[in-house]
Amino acid sequence: MDGRKRVLLAAPRGYCAGVDRAVVAVEKALQRFGAPVYVRKQIVHNIHVVTELEAQGAIFVDEVDEVPEGAHVVFSAHGVSPAVVNAAADRGLHAIDATCPLVTKVHREAVRFARDDYEILLIGHDGHEEVEGTAGEAPEHVTIVNSPDEADTVEVRDPSKVVWLSQTTLSVDETMETVNRLRARFPELHDPPSDDICYATQNRQVAIKKVAKEADLVIVVGSANSSNSVRLVEVALEYGARAAFRVDYADEIRQEWLDGVATVGVTSGASVPEVLVREVLDALAEAGYGDVDEVRTAEEDLMFSLPKELRQDVSGQRDDRALGGRLR
Ligand code: SF4
Repeated sequence: MDGRKRVLLAAPRGYCAGVDRAVVAVEKALQRFGAPVYVRKQIVHNIHVVTELEAQGAIFVDEVDEVPEGAHVVFSAHGVSPAVVNAAADRGLHAIDATCPLVTKVHREAVRFARDDYEILLIGHDGHEEVEGTAGEAPEHVTIVNSPDEADTVEVRDPSKVVWLSQTTLSVDETMETVNRLRARFPELHDPPSDDICYATQNRQVAIKKVAKEADLVIVVGSANSSNSVRLVEVALEYGARAAFRVDYADEIRQEWLDGVATVGVTSGASVPEVLVREVLDALAEAGYGDVDEVRTAEEDLMFSLPKELRQDVSGQRDDRALGGRLR
C-alpha cells in the first residue's frame, strides 16, 4: 500500500435502459390509474427500488392469481412466459408489459428457432425469472444449461439441429466457456443471430475488469437476487481484485474490509439507482477515501420508449418518455 487512499469509480454502472423504463412504467401507471397498481415479481431486482415503489402504492405479488380481477398489473423487466400473459387475460387484468426489449428479443429468437424445430440450449440460471419466461415460450424445445460443467453432460435429440441462447445478465467469459464446451460436443451448434448478453451487462463487466486490476477491494452496489450485480463481484475477483463484496446499502460496508486497502473499486448493477452509489462514496470518504477517479470504458445513451399501454397521456397526447429520475 503506497498510503494514497483512493476510489476508482467504474463507468458505466447502475441503471440501464431496460430498468429505467420498467421503473418509470410503474410510476407512470400509478399516476395514470391511481394506487394500487400490482406488479408481478420485483419490477427490477433491487430492494431499494421495490421499497420506494411500495411507498408510492405499488403492490408486488408472485403470481397474477393474487391480483384482484380487473386490476392493473405490470409485468417486470425480466419478462413473462405466454402462460402468465394468458393467466392475466383470463382474470380480466389490464396488463402493462415492462419486459425489457432486449429480453423480448431473446423470446422472439426462442419462438423462431422452436418453429424451425431446433433444440434450444438456454444458458442461464434455472429458476431465474428471465429464464422461466424465455423457456416458457417453447418449453418442449428448451433445455437449460446452468454452467460450463453442465455443457459436458447435457443430452440433445439431434446434434445437427441445436442452437444456444442465453440469459441477458450472465458473465460474458463464463458464457463463452459454456459455448465452447458445447461446441466441442456439438460442432454444428448454431449461434444466436446477435448477442443475448445485453449491452449493459457487457459494459459494466468491461469497466469493472479495468478497475479490478488496480483495486485492493471492490464494492459492488446491488441486491443479492440481481444476477448482473452478483456477476460483477465474480468478474472483479477473476480480474485481480484482492477482495470483492456486494452491498445493498452503504451501512453494510465493514471496517475490516478496508484494513490495509489503498484502492477501492466501486461499481453498481444495472438495477441500482445512483443515490445508493453516492451513499457508498460518502461512507468511503468518511473513512479517508475521498479521492475519487472515474474509470470510464464506454458511453451509453440508449433509451427505450415506454410500454405501449402507457404511451398516451391523460390528455390523449403521445408520451414516449417522461418522468424518470425519481429513484435515481
Ligand atoms: S440488464 Fe440488460 S436485459 Fe436487463 S433490463 Fe437492463 S438492458 Fe434490459
